Amino acid sequence: MELAPPPKTNSGIALAKRRTYNAPVSDASQTTAAHADDLLRRSLANGRLGHAYLFVGGTIELLEAHATRLARTLNCAAPPATGETGIPLEPCGGCIPCRKVDSGNFPDLDFVRPEKKSRIISIEQVRNLTRKVSLKPTEGRYKVAIIAGADRMPGPAFNAFLKTLEEPPERTVFILLSVHPDQLGETIRSRCMRVSFGGEADVQLEGNDTAWLRSFVGMSAETGEGLMGRYRLLGSLMDHLATKRDRIEENQEEASPLNRHDDLEPALRDKLKQELEASIAAEYRRQRGDFLTGLQWWLRDVWLAALRQGRELLHFQDWADTSEAIGRRLTPSQALENLQSIEATQRLLETTNVQEALALEVGLLKLKL
Ligand SMILES: [Zn+2]
Repeated sequence: MELAPPPKTNSGIALAKRRTYNAPVSDASQTTAAHADDLLRRSLANGRLGHAYLFVGGTIELLEAHATRLARTLNCAAPPATGETGIPLEPCGGCIPCRKVDSGNFPDLDFVRPEKKSRIISIEQVRNLTRKVSLKPTEGRYKVAIIAGADRMPGPAFNAFLKTLEEPPERTVFILLSVHPDQLGETIRSRCMRVSFGGEADVQLEGNDTAWLRSFVGMSAETGEGLMGRYRLLGSLMDHLATKRDRIEENQEEASPLNRHDDLEPALRDKLKQELEASIAAEYRRQRGDFLTGLQWWLRDVWLAALRQGRELLHFQDWADTSEAIGRRLTPSQALENLQSIEATQRLLETTNVQEALALEVGLLKLKL
């Protein structure tokens, strides 16, 4: 989905007018945008159209331009190229649907933007959208809903939207846009296929977490259902977290002044000890959170596989085979329940003083793999 092609057609001109973001573009972000373009095109070529995309990148204008282009592509009446299953790969720019999308008059394209005054997307806006997308497309192949500033959805609007996202009407494609995907919450992020147009960091797992997750994925593939297998996975998870905690303790104790001074006054020593403990606990919570987010992202891959989505959209490409094998023995709703279960576990651990082992046991035993 490159933005740069010289504007030849009406649509190109409209796009050019909107291209205020076309200020200096670094090589890196050009590469990212080209990669994003390639990824989308390949998934369309393979006949795998996602029902919800999350476009993330530097500016909302850039993302709107990409999203509008996808809306044109999907509904173009004379696409110059189509994929295996007849999904258009690019828009012609000159046909009636293409022109209507550009002028904002295409009846099957809905734009939702934060309200001017409140700067949020309201529940009324979400309800309105849900109503519209529940109807069949009138002129196009697909209904396309572009939600700009998707991170600006407070509680009730968010919940209403999540429901629509989880039970998407047929022939509807949601495109969420966000320049602050970190504020979007994993719940929505993990239900969309993320396409990055540059300017944001992906899920980053540290080396040990990646190694553990790799072996967990392998074990999951082998064990399948069964309580014994589940407890084996739980044991491995608890070991991994214990090692993580030990390492944090070691590092922080080594760096603490307690370690360097033997002659501290008892009051000061106590104070430093407490600070050290609090700091270890905080660091552990943070690292555990990152790690569980990684696990969540893998369960998202399994969910996408259960939905028979293209493997190029999976986050963990190295284990795509295994994730697909697992995803294909699950129904989409089972795979979605997995995601919900790990999210509930994370919330429990973050917001309450529930015993860690208990929370993880409950969460893990619920997983269907
Ligand atoms: Zn067209």
